Amino acid sequence: MGSKQRFGAGIWHFATYVDRYATDGYGPPRGLLEMIDLAGQVEDLSVVDINYPFADPDLSLDAVEAALDKNGLSVIGITPEIYTRRFAKGAFTNPDPGVRRLANEMINDAANVVRRFGAKYVKLWPGQDGWDYPFQVDHKELWQASIDGVAELASENSDLQFVIEYKPREPRVHMSYDSVARTLLAIEKIGLPNVGILLDFGHSLYGGESPADAAQLAIDYGRLFGMDVNDNFRSWDDDLIAGSVHPIELFEFFYTLRKNGWEGVWQLDQFPFREDAVAAANSAIRFLKSIERALDKLDFEAMQAAQDSHDAVTALTLAREALFGSA
Ligand code: FE
Ligand code: FE
Repeated sequence: MGSKQRFGAGIWHFATYVDRYATDGYGPPRGLLEMIDLAGQVEDLSVVDINYPFADPDLSLDAVEAALDKNGLSVIGITPEIYTRRFAKGAFTNPDPGVRRLANEMINDAANVVRRFGAKYVKLWPGQDGWDYPFQVDHKELWQASIDGVAELASENSDLQFVIEYKPREPRVHMSYDSVARTLLAIEKIGLPNVGILLDFGHSLYGGESPADAAQLAIDYGRLFGMDVNDNFRSWDDDLIAGSVHPIELFEFFYTLRKNGWEGVWQLDQFPFREDAVAAANSAIRFLKSIERALDKLDFEAMQAAQDSHDAVTALTLAREALFGSA
């Protein structure tokens, strides 16, 4: 039986990376068109999330669209680069109003690219909005600026969705949008229908949340607009291959989505520093397909009955039988 599920990936999955040690990079730099061609080689990948502005300022939207078409890909989201050096002290929360304006303009440009590609959302990942040291910021002002920046964009672009991808830390030691609860608090305060959450399984995991519980909370507030998966050892955003470390929690996360009738793309947000990018994506998608088959097999009524009595042993037996074929 073929998979009904659509799969996606952040296009950065197909980039090469630097870190603070291998400052010459783990491979020669790749241009966006090259990354799109690699994405096209992945089995069953149908959508990508693309960073904007493009690294090559001469690259046209038409050229990107042609490359996507050639590879049978469409765009789910555009991620404005509000986390690069000029936003070192934040985008929405930057102490310089000129830099805050620049962030707003860059995100509005990204919104136009979303319209141009018929994508679903603008993805906000405010990685530099936060603080590093005690006493560094006025917490009241910082949080208010985090809320105001998103509220302004959402009201300027009521025809589009904005998703906030929260993360505990990195690059800032503490990010302002650090958890599902804080992000929901901001969204409730903003009070607009077009702001939601993009739940990154790995961010939730290493932030000390249960990703299944975080997903349920976001769904209950009507704000789960998107998700992406990867894996880590729970102390950092390792962005490893989905399912490689926490298969049971990943299964519970997707169980929660299915139980709530949440339908959307299952996206990869992985950083294969030392792995072949196409092979790493295929590996994840194959495992996600086994999760999908396990959900088809799982006895949801029996699971509900087990949960209704908080029966951990029966619940785990059902989950393991569905996922691994034995308990
Ligand atoms: Fe992510
Ligand atoms: Fe991440």
